[in-house]
Amino acid sequence: MNNLEYKIYIDDVIRRVEKARIKVSAHHIVKIIAVSKYSTSDAINKLYNIGQRAFGENKVQDLKLKSKELEELPLEWHFIGNLQKNKINNLLDIDPTLFHGLDSLKLALELQKKLFTRDMTLDALLQINSANELAKSGVSIDDALNIYEKITQECPNINLRGVMSIGAHSDDETLIKESFIKTHNIYKQLKNADICSMGMSGDFELAIECGSNMVRLGSIMFPKETT
Ligand SMILES: *Cc1c(COP(=O)(O)O)cnc(C)c1O
Repeated sequence: MNNLEYKIYIDDVIRRVEKARIKVSAHHIVKIIAVSKYSTSDAINKLYNIGQRAFGENKVQDLKLKSKELEELPLEWHFIGNLQKNKINNLLDIDPTLFHGLDSLKLALELQKKLFTRDMTLDALLQINSANELAKSGVSIDDALNIYEKITQECPNINLRGVMSIGAHSDDETLIKESFIKTHNIYKQLKNADICSMGMSGDFELAIECGSNMVRLGSIMFPKETT
C-alpha cells in the first residue's frame, strides 16, 4: 500500500467507527487508540502522517523503545497491557497518557506508593474481566464498583477515568455483547468517569453500539503491508 492507498484504507475504518457511533447519538464521540504492539516505529510514523496521534502498547519495554524512537513526534502513548510490580518504575519513567490495565487494588496500592514518592499522578482505567474468563486479568463485575471506590479513596495519585474491558472470547456475538453491556453498566454507575475503553479490531462496532467511547484497534489499523 502506498501512502494514498493507506489513507483511503484508514478513512474506511474511520467511516465504520462513525457509522457505529452515530447509531448511539450524534454527540457520542469515540476515540481510536492505534495499537502498535505488532508494528514497527516506521509503521507508526506512516499512520502519524495520515493523522493518527494516539498509540497503544502492551509491553513496557516496547512502549519505552518506540516512544523513545518517536520522541520528536507529538504522540499520545497508552499502556494497554498488564503491569508487573517490577515494571512500575519503568512505566512511570515513560509517564504514559493513560494506563488501561489497572486490574487489582493491590497493584493500585503499589502504584500509589511509587507515584507519591515521585510526586506525580497517573490517569488509569480499572480493567474489568466482564466475561469472567480465567485467561484474562481484571476485577469481576461484582467487585468492580467496590474496588473502583477503594482506589479512588486510597490512591490520591491515581486519577481513575473509567473502565476497560476486552470482549468475551467467543464466536457468539450475544456473549460478546453481553460482556460489553455489563462493563458499560458499571461505567454508567461511576461518578466523574469519562472513559469506557472497549472494542478491538474484531468487535469495535458492537462495542461502540454498547457505549464504548474508546476503541483499541491493532490489526485493522496496521494491515500487513504497512507493518
Ligand atoms: C492487542 C490488543 C488490542 C488490539 O487487538 P486487535 O485485535 O489487533 O485490534 C486491544 N487491546 C488489548 C488489551 C490488546 O492487547
